[in-house]
Amino acid sequence: MHNHDQALIFESSTPGRIGYSLPEMDVQELDLVSLLPEGYIREEEAELPEVSELDIMRHYTALSKRNHGLDSGFYPLGSCTMKYNPKINENVARYNGFAHVHPLQDESSVQGALGLLYDLQEHLIEITGMDEVTLQSAAGAHGEWTGLMLIRAYHEANGDMKRTKVIVPDSAHGTNPASATIAGFDTITVKSTDKGLVDLEDLRRVVGEDTAALMLTNPNTLGLFEEEILEIAEIVHQAGGKVYYDGANLNAVLSKARPGDMGFDVVHLNLHKTFTGPHGGGGPGSGPVGVKADLIPFLPKPIISKRGEEFVLDYDRPQSIGRVKPFYGNFGINVRAYTYIRSMGPDGLKAVTEYAVLNANYMMRRLAEHYDLPFDKHCKHEFVLSGKRQKKLGVRTLDIAKRLLDFGYHPPTIYFPLNVEECIMIEPTETESKETLDSFVDIMIQIAKEAEENPEIVQEAPHTTVVGRLDETLAARKPILKYQKN
Ligand SMILES: *Cc1c(COP(=O)(O)O)cnc(C)c1O
Repeated sequence: MHNHDQALIFESSTPGRIGYSLPEMDVQELDLVSLLPEGYIREEEAELPEVSELDIMRHYTALSKRNHGLDSGFYPLGSCTMKYNPKINENVARYNGFAHVHPLQDESSVQGALGLLYDLQEHLIEITGMDEVTLQSAAGAHGEWTGLMLIRAYHEANGDMKRTKVIVPDSAHGTNPASATIAGFDTITVKSTDKGLVDLEDLRRVVGEDTAALMLTNPNTLGLFEEEILEIAEIVHQAGGKVYYDGANLNAVLSKARPGDMGFDVVHLNLHKTFTGPHGGGGPGSGPVGVKADLIPFLPKPIISKRGEEFVLDYDRPQSIGRVKPFYGNFGINVRAYTYIRSMGPDGLKAVTEYAVLNANYMMRRLAEHYDLPFDKHCKHEFVLSGKRQKKLGVRTLDIAKRLLDFGYHPPTIYFPLNVEECIMIEPTETESKETLDSFVDIMIQIAKEAEENPEIVQEAPHTTVVGRLDETLAARKPILKYQKN
């Protein structure tokens, strides 16, 4: 696929070759080295490659082609909502008035920026059915932690100190129990039924006087809508707990159903998923948190509010849990989300949900003949398959994911959720055409046939990428980030 040698041009250093040309110095040269503290001065010259400007350009361009991004191909990574990031969002985020404001500017000089944030809060209040929203949290997991700290502050303010447990379903996103732990709670798991939904019997068994909250995502990570959502919220409320809605899957219910109407007390949204913020490379993201009235006093400060015609930062909040992020959150991502909401409008956002759900169901039905479908019912914006049938032929889900790379696709999420054997989790999003969905499905069907007829080709994949199977843990734990001369 790629010309491997091109990216290695950086390695072919030629002594004396340089990538710049500057005129002779005609001012006095500063002795910069003498300005450095002792221990920072190199004893030997850095061993950098000696290359021309063109060499460098080709090096980085070749590296960029090794990347897979939304702008280069289909990215059906379940749970991550890898939908197209409209370029108008980028244009607006680059307006001088947004890109060049400084977080230490006086309120009176950033009225436009504060106005945008205030308006975004209002839209998110409407979309979620909550009473107030903070935009400070920088990601979904950060929103979860913030929301749980609010719930903690609420119970403490009521003198209700024995509520130390947070209930999470066994299909929960990994960040849910992690956030609960970091917020100082113990987590308890509630089982799913064989239909993939929360087991109400089990919920009644685990809920009690020590319940601080239940965390739930709806539709859940299997892509299934929790049909008994109202009863679930009721059971937890009866026991004096709060219900937390992980809104990362809002792409499936946007403009159709609202967490607030389902009885939820706290919700976080992933603006970098549902509202088209780019989220490659781990951020920056935005994970606003919405709450019902009884939790408003605890929200992080400052709150952006309106006094008359003026937007102000309200720090006068004695019960606030404090700041969770410097300044006002990841402003640029909030600008992108605002642009998205305004350019889509209410009808556009409704269409998002309809097409996201339609696309997922279309793919699920086409694939169901070739892969096991553990939960055979309508899905929402994503669905899970199981590679059990292929496993019997000696082809694992990991192999299928690696084989997809040969065809230029980003693989789906695999081995998650944990309660499905050989899980393959696919989320197409609404932004893909029927042709793209069909091409991907055709390749998945081809791979299923290969597993029967020629399993080695799948087991040994990928065949066309620059590198084969990596030790992903080692790559994450001990990445080599610096140029190393061979
Ligand atoms: C993505 C996701 C999260 C975490 O969001 P981050 O922004 O990655 O921290 C939490 N829950 C669900 C269901 C998700 O899909």
